[in-house]
Amino acid sequence: MPRQAGLRILNNLFYCEISMQIRKNYKKADFMTDRAKNILGEVFGYSEFRSHQKKIIENVLKKRDTLVIMPTGGGKSLCYQIPALIFNGLTIVVSPLISLMKDQVEQLTELGVSALFLNSSLSTEEYGRNIDLLKKNKVKLLYIAPETLLMPRTLSLLSSLAVDCMAIDEAHCISEWGHDFRPEYRQLSDVRTRFPSATCIALTATATQRVREDIKSSLGFDVSNEFIASFDRKNLFINITSKDNPVSQTLDFLSSHSGESGIIYCFSRKQVDDLYRTLEENGYSVKPYHAGLTDKERAYNQELFIKDDVQIIVATIAFGMGINKPNVRFVIHFDLPKNIETYYQEIGRAGRDGLNSFCLLLFDYGDIQKIKYFINQKSETEQRIANVHLSALLQFAETEICRRRPLLSYFGENYPANKCGMCDNCLAGDKNLVDITVLAKKFLSCVKRTNEMFGINHIIDVLRGSQSQKVYNFEHEKLSTYGIGKDYTRKQWFHLARQFINKGLMIQDEKYGGLKLTEKAYDVFKGQETVLGMIEVERMANVKKKETETEYDYDRILYEKLRKLRKDLADKAGVPPYVIFSDKTLIEMAVFYPRSKESLLYVYGVGSVKQKKYGSYFLDIINSHCKEHQI
Ligand code: ADP
Ligand code: ZN
Repeated sequence: MPRQAGLRILNNLFYCEISMQIRKNYKKADFMTDRAKNILGEVFGYSEFRSHQKKIIENVLKKRDTLVIMPTGGGKSLCYQIPALIFNGLTIVVSPLISLMKDQVEQLTELGVSALFLNSSLSTEEYGRNIDLLKKNKVKLLYIAPETLLMPRTLSLLSSLAVDCMAIDEAHCISEWGHDFRPEYRQLSDVRTRFPSATCIALTATATQRVREDIKSSLGFDVSNEFIASFDRKNLFINITSKDNPVSQTLDFLSSHSGESGIIYCFSRKQVDDLYRTLEENGYSVKPYHAGLTDKERAYNQELFIKDDVQIIVATIAFGMGINKPNVRFVIHFDLPKNIETYYQEIGRAGRDGLNSFCLLLFDYGDIQKIKYFINQKSETEQRIANVHLSALLQFAETEICRRRPLLSYFGENYPANKCGMCDNCLAGDKNLVDITVLAKKFLSCVKRTNEMFGINHIIDVLRGSQSQKVYNFEHEKLSTYGIGKDYTRKQWFHLARQFINKGLMIQDEKYGGLKLTEKAYDVFKGQETVLGMIEVERMANVKKKETETEYDYDRILYEKLRKLRKDLADKAGVPPYVIFSDKTLIEMAVFYPRSKESLLYVYGVGSVKQKKYGSYFLDIINSHCKEHQI
């Protein structure tokens, strides 16, 4: 591939240029930290380190083993990429997924950093060429699959080179307690002994204590070198709303997100196919993704999404591992996820670029019974664990307080504020908390009069005066509570019933869903207890206002022009558009209208190499746009 080889040579030249510039600028204050900061700006085009990045980089530069726990999109890669540019020797990055390696190498190459990968996807020729570059010490970062690294010939080659750092990405793969155990990862501690002067940095987004301990002990780490970032993803707007008419709710949502990239997760393949067809019929740019498609179809649909050729992916949970697309603007859960950890991982795929992104969960009380049914098929121990997960998820979904509090507390973190301002509950405000004692009395007495044998559905039928056969079979139309709840919709009663359970006024049978009253219910009857809660109203209206607010008010016409240019450049170079510039970079251009090469360097994500490579194309568009609109 002559194009790639050419690019690589060019990039090596760029890299030399950068390091010369850095050396020149910092002859006097040649401190590691300053160099790190300088590289952050020069190469990556960012002005500030994010939380912990600076300390982590300093720790690695001091050649201390380091464990990094940071959520998806937190900025883990820079923690080893910047030291790699400062160390004289090579940095080896162990990564489990070929797609991630390719993505990282593409991005680094665009930044003018000499990086390459070794894995089974390379042809013999490409492999040989990469080995050659390594032997000539032309490489700063080598991404490698664990099984490739463990091959004796790879090990002996790498042992002959100066290796300064070994980064272990997705380090939870080391642990049998993680969700993605890879046996080869276990052998990495042995590999370390082959590189005595290399320091080790392990990175993961998995927060569980058990996995952390496993990583440290398996790699022989010291406790003091652990960095745990907050799991709060501030730019994600969290909204949970009850599932009413999911298709029209989804269409409604999409109509206010036109042109944005997003993922919709469904429970089953059939649902994926149905929803995909509906969206396509409605004119959306959309593709399906699930295990029923061939590998080729899946890879193709994923590629279209990554390259911004397709806007929406409707997928089962199988989608998302190994994609690094930073401008995913929304994630919709069409169905209830399995547990909070899965949910958080999935919504974590939105907004990696730090721009506000939207997470919508359509919550159906009926889904709970479905999940309970599946849980009941499991062994006793598995049931216990699954029930704990489910009740944590329900607690989160049904909470009336800021959603970040139960969410982060699940990950062992104390959310310090009362309100985040970025969830539906915070926007709804306290005013929705009303006295629902009368409604509680109606519901609870209906439970009592039907002899505490029935589930929520049936009680609502009786309250709303349903003509269903089941009601007549039990002669429940004769009860005094029959038809006394017609003022509220079925959905509102469901929501109320869940609150009564949450408040301990009644309990629900795990297996069959039957309701029973508690002592507290009798206090309500006696008038000794007031019940405060929420009556569900359509909350999407005020939520919509918030979500469309962005950090800046930018020139949308210019933004679209820049986006088109970016797509053309990306297609020409055969990379995804975000590898050229992120959305945030384009937005800043459409806010500040940089007119010269120098001012372009102040824009987020524009480093010196990209400025030289692409600056003039973007400046041309900005300048002619400004002329046209007399800006
Ligand atoms: P992770 O590996 O933790 O999921 P990444 O390393 O992919 O996250 O970083 C997510 C995004 O944030 C990337 O686009 C990255 O370039 C960007 N980023 C990282 N650090 C900074 C920073 N200090 N300032 C601005 N953007 C950053
Ligand atoms: Zn909140």
